[in-house]
Amino acid sequence: MSNSDKFKQIEFEEIKECPFCSSEQIKFLFSAPERLTDLPGIFSVYQCQECGLAFQNPLVREEYIGLYYTERLGYYSPSANKDKEPHGLKKFLTEHILVNHLKYDFKKKNIFLLFLTLPLKRFLKTRIFPDFKQGGKFLDIGCAGGRLLSRMKKMGWDTTGIEMHKKTANYAQEQLGLKVFNKRIEDADFPEQEFDAIVMSMVLEHLYHPFMSLEKITKWLKKDGQLIFSIPYFNGFEFNRFRGYSFGLQLPIHITFLSKKVIKQHLTTLGYKDIKFYHQFFDRDIIASARNKYKDTGVWFYKILGHNKIVRILLVRPFVFLLALFNKTSRITVYAKKI
Ligand SMILES: [Zn+2]
Repeated sequence: MSNSDKFKQIEFEEIKECPFCSSEQIKFLFSAPERLTDLPGIFSVYQCQECGLAFQNPLVREEYIGLYYTERLGYYSPSANKDKEPHGLKKFLTEHILVNHLKYDFKKKNIFLLFLTLPLKRFLKTRIFPDFKQGGKFLDIGCAGGRLLSRMKKMGWDTTGIEMHKKTANYAQEQLGLKVFNKRIEDADFPEQEFDAIVMSMVLEHLYHPFMSLEKITKWLKKDGQLIFSIPYFNGFEFNRFRGYSFGLQLPIHITFLSKKVIKQHLTTLGYKDIKFYHQFFDRDIIASARNKYKDTGVWFYKILGHNKIVRILLVRPFVFLLALFNKTSRITVYAKKI
């Protein structure tokens, strides 16, 4: 069968009620093509009018979604995931935030830097660092080539990862010597109350059963354990402004877009407290969305916004910095503690 014939065979499931709250008050928002690698298909997003959950509908049936996970996505090139540790000022500030504010102990605390780095703490929080626990067990779900895992291991965590792509998981195991299981979250199994911290970076939006997966993960977490995950945030500026052109949309591999209300409600039900949201400072969302829009519409404004380096540095970056400060960007990191 040729490649384009394969895409004609894809089956969809029509969703009639909200996958979270079961409300039938669901509303069509917009349609968009697959934009990351220009594969065939037009997909739509609906939103629940009760809880704010947005989701792909009709939904590509799970057995066909693999067609859209191609090497071209760049998810599976371990070399792109090499341990790029920060250097210079960034390294200096990162280390002092970790030591002064997140209990890491690889260097001495410094009272002057404690105050100086306080305003920057929120930006490090978006980068999925749990509060440190010496010898604590750390699980990274969807760990790719093991970049975060190897940093955490160096700082004293006992690390484990799971990664669904075989070649990438092998790289983390063999080249970096990490404990990584080549599994999907749905097939993974760990003892109850095994981990002190569980993290997932940009994973939940890809899952067919995000709520069940969160429930499963919660069982693996110890009492007082930390759950941290990042997701695209549908109520942020880029999604509101760019809608079907949004870089974060990534249909059809993104299935669900969780609202803060949904996250709070679900995590509270699962037994979490101290649920906090941190908006990421990430200018690529606006740049890539503008490029998408320019490609389809040819409007010069989006060409300048998406392709001009000076505009990016002098205008987009400061603007996105402000958006992040005011909790308006379209990527968030969520922290919660298990009761
Ligand atoms: Zn709902």
